[in-house]
Amino acid sequence: MRKLQSRRTFLGGISAAAAAIGLTERPATAGGDQPLAILGGKPVRRHGFSHWPIIGENDERAWMEVLRKGRWCRMNGDYADRFEHEWARMLGAPHCIAVANGTSALITSLGVLGIGPGDEVLVPPYTFVATINAVLVHHALPVFVDIDPETFQIDARLLESAITEHTACILPVHIGGSAADLDTILAVAAKHKLPVVEDACQAHLGEWKHRKLSTLGDLGCFSFQASKNLNSGEGGAILTHDDRLAQECRSFQNNGRGTGGVAYARNGANLRMTEFQAALIAQQLTRLEEQSRRREQNAAYLTTLLREIPGITPARMYDGCTRNAYHLYMLRYDRSHFEGLPRSRFLKALSAEGIPCSGGYSPLYQEPFLKTTLQSRAFQAIYSPKRLADYLERIHCPANDRLCEEAVWFTQTMFLGPRSDMDQIAEAVRKIQKHAGNLARA
Ligand SMILES: *Cc1c(COP(=O)(O)O)cnc(C)c1O
Repeated sequence: MRKLQSRRTFLGGISAAAAAIGLTERPATAGGDQPLAILGGKPVRRHGFSHWPIIGENDERAWMEVLRKGRWCRMNGDYADRFEHEWARMLGAPHCIAVANGTSALITSLGVLGIGPGDEVLVPPYTFVATINAVLVHHALPVFVDIDPETFQIDARLLESAITEHTACILPVHIGGSAADLDTILAVAAKHKLPVVEDACQAHLGEWKHRKLSTLGDLGCFSFQASKNLNSGEGGAILTHDDRLAQECRSFQNNGRGTGGVAYARNGANLRMTEFQAALIAQQLTRLEEQSRRREQNAAYLTTLLREIPGITPARMYDGCTRNAYHLYMLRYDRSHFEGLPRSRFLKALSAEGIPCSGGYSPLYQEPFLKTTLQSRAFQAIYSPKRLADYLERIHCPANDRLCEEAVWFTQTMFLGPRSDMDQIAEAVRKIQKHAGNLARA
């Protein structure tokens, strides 16, 4: 306290410019007396965070190479083959099958496992809608298993009580790039002889006990959509240790084409990755390790800063999570430590300070798409009214719904800059906390 006061006196005597060039001992606390930017004061930060995507000469070269060769489809090129080989090698799995996007990776995975009408698939409610759509496309029911409020991941302790005679698969999501509790998930799966599909669409290079996420379940799915840590605009991949499943996936994403003289061996679709996508990801891949390390270091530092702020609780990682991909930096906001300031106002104030942020997902199973799908002709033909009514009874997730009201997200691109960016994020949060009373009354 004494230290803080003397620093204030000091700051009062010098110009703001002197403070800005770093004469203060802790730049993280500078500007605390500034009015909030949302109320007309100076924002903590004026310039944006790292731009995205990052484009190098290697990307341009690879792109033009594909263009000029004229072999734009993987059926007559080899960029997709080369990317698959490299991604499998980096993750330590024998098989990688590239596909058009992450949704296709999930649809293919559930397809080759034979998930279909009448089946139930255990999923977390705190995820991107594609996880759920992949289940619904196969006319199966996504059974929502509530989340662990500390980690934001599926609560693996609740899995067993959600299993019925219809359960056909467990589909955990490594949300934000941190790991779901794979020890518990894999143990429950083994006990009940259920396959596991990992949705690792946000978890490039993330790890569970030093093994790469996507390689621990039967199948693991990635997305390379524009917002993801590894990006080719759109793209996806499936990882597996299982030779037979790998072959089925390869067939499924290629219209069910067979091998050894069989033209079409199974059902499928054209979900192939283009050569342009493959060439671009292969180049983006050369920066992934370095970028991941930077995200990790910055995020870990931000956590040390935010932990000191009452009412701000960063998502905890399970002990088994040896590496977090930090696609999202997620925390809980407790308004009672901010003079009752609603989260929506906090988010607006933080954005005004130059810190982009969002409130993340809304409760997915309450969105209209689910009921609309259940009311479709196909679902009505497959499921009895009683089964659908029972299903709707079962899928409430109160911990998820609370999280959806309290979460605050920062995205991965904010963690690619210098460490001082983290100081500014924490400074902006502290500034809002200090003036929360003014803002709540404004
Ligand atoms: C992005 C994402 C997907 C879908 O990937 P697309 O490439 O956009 O189809 C699926 N699951 C999760 C958790 C995702 O974040």
